[in-house]
Amino acid sequence: MRSWAARHASVCSVVLVSLVLASSCSMEEESSSAIVITSPKNSAGGSGGVSGKGGGGGSDGQGGSQPGSGGSAGSAGGSAGSTGTTAGQGGSSGGMSNQGGGGEGGFAGSAQGGASGGVGAPEASIVFLSPQEGQIFQQVGFPAEALIPFEVQVSQGITRVQYRIENGELMADKTNAPSFAHTHPFKIAGQRWVEAQGFDGAGTLLATAKVNFTVQAPILNGCLDELKAMGVPFVTTQAKGVVDAVKLQGPLNGVFYTSGLKETPTNDPIACEFVKTLWAFADVVKAQGYVRVGTLGSYCYRCCCAWSQTNYCRGPDDPEPDCGSKGYSNHSWGRAVDVRYLIKADGTIHDINNPTHFVTYGGTDTCGAGIAQQSGISLALYKIVCDAHKQKLFNTILTPNYNAAHRNHLHMDTGKSGVATGAVAKIAPDFSWQVDTGDHEDHCGP
Ligand SMILES: [Zn+2]
Repeated sequence: MRSWAARHASVCSVVLVSLVLASSCSMEEESSSAIVITSPKNSAGGSGGVSGKGGGGGSDGQGGSQPGSGGSAGSAGGSAGSTGTTAGQGGSSGGMSNQGGGGEGGFAGSAQGGASGGVGAPEASIVFLSPQEGQIFQQVGFPAEALIPFEVQVSQGITRVQYRIENGELMADKTNAPSFAHTHPFKIAGQRWVEAQGFDGAGTLLATAKVNFTVQAPILNGCLDELKAMGVPFVTTQAKGVVDAVKLQGPLNGVFYTSGLKETPTNDPIACEFVKTLWAFADVVKAQGYVRVGTLGSYCYRCCCAWSQTNYCRGPDDPEPDCGSKGYSNHSWGRAVDVRYLIKADGTIHDINNPTHFVTYGGTDTCGAGIAQQSGISLALYKIVCDAHKQKLFNTILTPNYNAAHRNHLHMDTGKSGVATGAVAKIAPDFSWQVDTGDHEDHCGP
């Protein structure tokens, strides 16, 4: 890539060459993009040409000035002086035309430099080694990002390199010569570019370079692919009523969802979309210092509301239950979880069913008057409920304040549709969603 100094110097020299070619300064300026570089015949003695990378996009002054940038070494001393201003303008007005032809390198300017006795100081330069011009990077992970390594090669005298993203945002300020290596996560996909600016010890900008590259978003084909991109350990399974059913094989976003107090992942089939809900809920859980969630039976394809010998959990081969006006249990869709235990990394177990852990208060305004009365363990458990409520992660949350059937767990679901509206299922006249005001009376399993 072109150096700042070279840009100035070489265009100056170009002016002189232009004179030779019966051109003029003003023409140089008008004609943008430094037409400059036309005649390789003039390249006698050329030793320059660090850049000559014609590409560069040309969408701004720097890009435009890249074409035909070769061949400026040695010119500085000879010709820089009086035409410096003109040179700068010529460079910044550089436009699209790539007439410059991409730097044959080492002509005119060098000749001038030579003619003037070669008194010019060595040209400052900075060149990208990584990424390569036009390189493509694929984002991975969740949230998706591409880790892009930056490295440059600089001329002597450059002791500090600043990398700037498109609009000038400082990405990194590096002094780790010689490569000034830096790796940066790019979260926004698209055509991206970065400029490297090389400074000397006194903080004077000596050279710049620009590199264009592409950041590609992950190619995802539905929820299951998203889980893979998120790094969720899972296997697919089949379960009646559950869309894209999966079973977790390990921790989810740093939280283990287990059955009861087991050490293994819950065996419940979970709708793929609900795994993403639980991912977000894991952040809520971790915020209170827990790393493990002990659930009760969260999946059961049956009617509302309570499990019984006749209202049992249907398997794939069982006939469809006749639920009548009661409808199905929200546990039928793999989009519900019943939380009983919250467990810390040191093994401390907090139990919703323990009345000294989750302290009921005699009303159902759980996240209003209820939480206001809590302290200690109970406050932490209330916060889990009320933070999830604030973030509208679920459609329904029922706590021990709701009814006796929920004394031993927190019921949380996103309903049959799986769309977390933040409203209570079935009754949400004004979306003034509150915990424990749903009509979803349900408890889970035998
Ligand atoms: Zn439940």
